[in-house]
Amino acid sequence: MSNEVNRQWLLKARPSGMVEESHFELSESPLPAPAEGEFLVRNLYLSLDPAMRTWMVDVPSYIPPVGIGEVMRGACVGRVVESRHPDYATGELVTGVFGWQDYAVSDGGGAIPVSKVPDGVPPTMPLGVLGITSLTAYFGLKEVAQPKSGETVVVSGAAGATGSVTGQLAKLWGCKVIGIAGGPEKCEWLTGELGFDGAIDYKSEKVSARLRELCPGGMDVFWDNVGGAVLEAALANLAMHARVVLCGAISNYNAPDPTGPRNYMNLLVRRARMEGFVVFDYFSRTGEAMAELVPLVMEGKIRHREDVRDGLEAAPTALVDLYTGDNRGKLLVKIE
Ligand code: NAP
Repeated sequence: MSNEVNRQWLLKARPSGMVEESHFELSESPLPAPAEGEFLVRNLYLSLDPAMRTWMVDVPSYIPPVGIGEVMRGACVGRVVESRHPDYATGELVTGVFGWQDYAVSDGGGAIPVSKVPDGVPPTMPLGVLGITSLTAYFGLKEVAQPKSGETVVVSGAAGATGSVTGQLAKLWGCKVIGIAGGPEKCEWLTGELGFDGAIDYKSEKVSARLRELCPGGMDVFWDNVGGAVLEAALANLAMHARVVLCGAISNYNAPDPTGPRNYMNLLVRRARMEGFVVFDYFSRTGEAMAELVPLVMEGKIRHREDVRDGLEAAPTALVDLYTGDNRGKLLVKIE
């Protein structure tokens, strides 16, 4: 193993507009050796997440930016190939923030503490529908949106990894659910396979007018993954005492001049509240969420799609697809 090299994607430059492959550099270094209390992981799958673009700029956030010359941050599933840690044995499958690289050394900690992949769980699922994706949907809905049965829930970015689980959970909890997504194929998936009550193609339809048609009483919950013009259209269609959940604002992540909603006073008019949340704050309650989510996923009551790209070298170009909508479900890179 000592003759192998560790391929790593390093952050080379900070983007000011759309992220490009040229912002990264593929380098090779000797295989790292674990010290006492550490273990070596062979990465198998890397999760690509919209927030990565926000970690590439030197702006204060809920997590420090990635430094120039550092390995790009990313959550992975990998196999322990050498261990000097009492809690992790060679051969075990683990998930953690191991970065855009073939191998990583870990002590079990990190932005997301390392956890073991339970037997029988496919190795891609802990990065998506049985990982952060569904934890985000679950806690954002349960703790921030607090939907009641019979209420109307609208989800933007609805055909993506997080949005699709959010909408399905809201349906399972008795709500009317409308999704906003880009293109007819994604909208048909929402109303067909996923059972949403309606879908709006924001690329070809007037979102505000369609929301008025589909939610005549206004929306009780708006789950926002997108920000910008879509958020503005949603704020124009709130029911009294609506809850607006700020999960993300992907339309602004690459924008040199991000736009905010001009009509935020509708929150006052509708006595509504808008609240942001970060899933990291709920990791200590993962067990509670998984007790509910695992059976729903395994019984097919929560459906999901995975979009797996081949090879570590594909990571930067695949990342761009998140911001153009060219992913179909949870975007992953198969490293080995
Ligand atoms: P995803 O939804 O699977 O993929 C991103 C999707 O965003 C694309 O497929 C695209 O779908 C849509 N999009 C891209 N650019 C857009 C634009 N300019 N306008 C409208 N839609 C656009 O990704 P994900 O990992 O599930 O993340 C979804 C959102 O959740 C992101 O905003 C992310 O930052 C957020 N998130 C937040 C937390 C938290 O703790 N708060 C945790 C995880 C994720 P279309 O084809 O429909 O445009």
